[in-house]
Amino acid sequence: MLLGPPGSGKGTQGERLQEDFRLPYYATGDILRAAVKEGTDVGKQAKEFMDRGDLVPDEVIIGVIAERLQGEEASDGFILDGFPRTVPQAEALDTKMTELGRELTAAILIDVTEDEVVHRLGGRRTCEKNPSHIYHVEFDPPKEEGACDIDGGKLIVRDDDKPDVIKNRLAQYREKTEPLIDYYDDRGILNRVNGAQSPDEVEESIHGILATVRREEEEGM
Ligand SMILES: [Zn+2]
Repeated sequence: MLLGPPGSGKGTQGERLQEDFRLPYYATGDILRAAVKEGTDVGKQAKEFMDRGDLVPDEVIIGVIAERLQGEEASDGFILDGFPRTVPQAEALDTKMTELGRELTAAILIDVTEDEVVHRLGGRRTCEKNPSHIYHVEFDPPKEEGACDIDGGKLIVRDDDKPDVIKNRLAQYREKTEPLIDYYDDRGILNRVNGAQSPDEVEESIHGILATVRREEEEGM
């Protein structure tokens, strides 16, 4: 499970872990955005909250995630990103995992300062044609300003990357998600990674943590 504020690079690391370990990657943001795009009942509910930069309520998310965890594809493990976001969600997840006879191996916190988050998210540009095409005006600019390298789509500032919404997301993170750090620390599965490092260095740190966890599991600790 990946933890960290919006803009900490969780998504990038989740995708790398997915490739490195060949595990399904459940990014709640993507799952919810897909539901919004498809216009399902849950998607319509979720959209109202997301447009305001508010967190989507627990009951809307939990059913979607639980269904995924019970699938065949997740039988060897899975990567969670963006869920749980609150302590009640973490408790609901624990209950569900216990029911399924599963156990969380590690919670990895990618730690970055709020100033860094504002800097990173404020410069982010998303392709209108394909929201998985993401750029940054400073760190990863497109070849031609305002246009996607891959399909020429117009690059826009996504609603939840707008300044007021970023501030709202950070406030929500502080209030509801930061307590999760203590929650998983108490369970002895919290691991911290310095998110100010380059993506390659963050990835290397995460691999180191997972290697240690795996070794401890094999030794029956
Ligand atoms: Zn594109």
